[in-house]
Amino acid sequence: MIEFQNVGKTYRHDVVALKDINIKIDKGEFVFLVGPSGAGKSTFIKLLLHEEQATSGKIMMNEDDITKVSNRNIPLLRRSIGVIFQDFRLLPNKTVYENVAFAMEIVEAKSREIRRQVPMVLGLVGLSDKAKKYPNELSGGEMQRVSIARSIINNPSIVIADEPTGNLDPDTAWEIMRVLRHINQRGTTIIMATHAKDIVDVMEQRVIAIEKGTVIRDDKKGVYGYED
Ligand code: ADP
Ligand code: ADP
Repeated sequence: MIEFQNVGKTYRHDVVALKDINIKIDKGEFVFLVGPSGAGKSTFIKLLLHEEQATSGKIMMNEDDITKVSNRNIPLLRRSIGVIFQDFRLLPNKTVYENVAFAMEIVEAKSREIRRQVPMVLGLVGLSDKAKKYPNELSGGEMQRVSIARSIINNPSIVIADEPTGNLDPDTAWEIMRVLRHINQRGTTIIMATHAKDIVDVMEQRVIAIEKGTVIRDDKKGVYGYED
């Protein structure tokens, strides 16, 4: 469902971030993206979200080459992908319920649909009893669960998680991994960029390692492979 074909990305001043990437990710896969700082992981994610343009190659998502998506259709493309960040990025003046509902309001979902879906997804991430709380009343793990709820509320086929456990203690990080695993088991493809060695080593999922802009490993049941 996602395929990079000979994809390269060179930033201004000849900074090569990715070169000749060939990768295929099937629907429903759970993929860890690992590699040292500056390897090109964020660039990989930005190309998927169309936040940056590839310099060469094709990126197929389902049937479409997204490097050819018109500006008009970029918002539509972004909505088909859920995104989770290390720093949660919740709206501080909205409740848990409202943060998640807002993602549906943006896509002009019907208010009846919003009232039905939001409690369902809050239940799925284990936050039914926190619906009326504001972000500053939540723990880090709870905030990340809100951001997961928000990322899946519009039923994307892909969720991209950029260091989702980076700000969490180990127990809380594992809670978040359980939630992500659960979402994956419901059929959503998950691509997670991470430096969490323990998590990658224990989960035994596909690991794609990028170094200096190229894929140096791609193992079906991979390990983190670095000491940090
Ligand atoms: P990672 O996420 O693995 O740390 P990045 O994709 O952020 O790697 O960076 C890959 C390379 O591209 C690095 O050399 C980085 O300095 C460079 N880079 C990233 N973003 C930009 C940008 N907007 N302009 C110029 N160079 C960039
Ligand atoms: P509308 O669809 O017109 O925005 P709703 O009835 O969906 O109105 O919600 C109004 C407000 O009530 C929301 O912004 C939210 O703060 C609160 N709310 C609605 N349903 C719930 C719920 N299940 N749990 C907690 N708060 C809720």
